[in-house]
Amino acid sequence: MSQHFLLSAASRTLKLKDIYKAGEEAAYRKFCEIRWAENDGDAICPRCGGLDAYDISTRRKFKCKACHHQFSVTSGTIFASRKLDFVDLLAAIAIVANASKGLSSIQLSRDLGVQYKTAFVLAHKIREALSRETAGVKLDEEVEIDGAYFGGSIRQANEKEDRIDRRRARHQTGKRLVVIALRERDGRTLTTVAKRESEGVAFAKARLEAGTIINADEASHWDTLDAFFPVGRINHSEAYSLNGVCTNQVESYFSRLRRMVGGQHHHVSGKYLHQYAAHAAWLEDHRRESNGALANRIVWNAVAAPVSRNWKGYWQR
Ligand SMILES: [Zn+2]
Repeated sequence: MSQHFLLSAASRTLKLKDIYKAGEEAAYRKFCEIRWAENDGDAICPRCGGLDAYDISTRRKFKCKACHHQFSVTSGTIFASRKLDFVDLLAAIAIVANASKGLSSIQLSRDLGVQYKTAFVLAHKIREALSRETAGVKLDEEVEIDGAYFGGSIRQANEKEDRIDRRRARHQTGKRLVVIALRERDGRTLTTVAKRESEGVAFAKARLEAGTIINADEASHWDTLDAFFPVGRINHSEAYSLNGVCTNQVESYFSRLRRMVGGQHHHVSGKYLHQYAAHAAWLEDHRRESNGALANRIVWNAVAAPVSRNWKGYWQR
């Protein structure tokens, strides 16, 4: 079997069995082919951009002929301090690409046969990688905006007189957060996490091109959008869609996020909510792509991503 079948951009399905059958070298080559696509998979120096390097192949390292910098295919990427073989990294990516409703770290640790902490860090690195795809992206044309609250639920006391008004108390725990999404119709979905849905106005100003038409529901905090954009409002107590104004696409996004959080992650810490939000957005935006294409995207986003600062101190905590 050719080991290059993994490299084919046209490979529609990426099966775990095939990844392990093709082996470590094929997985390693896939990372090289994707990171250094412009040099046909041959190393490019990350320091000076030099296209000629000595191949220290026994260690999978390279030494730049121009500046003598030593590097590897994962240098400067989120996988720089990887503890796993390339075949396991690629398998993890395939597992994440195949999980259309997201994936818990416990499930990933079982599937890969690695410790929970290893799977946890890896899953977050992968989410970080795919969320980079929309970093700095601005939406235009016609966009739907909406928000949904997550977290902050409180355990209720047994005796009735000890119970508290949950709806009020949720806000007081300070743990209740809102995911705000901007979804361009038939385009990308951008997300942010805030304390209040009204912060979505600033988010819209930052991430929408001037002149973008916004569709929003009846919530009064969206009134201020009028000062900056043409806005269509839909009152959900009257209709879900009227004269082309609706928030159906952004609501599909939120139902995916709710399924992901409810089905896989159960309780999401506010610290990671932005990553789940971005993961669901990525899945929603690419829902028509094959899992092979999705895996290629993840590898590309991962190796093109600069070193993750967020996870460096994780093991010391
Ligand atoms: Zn160099």
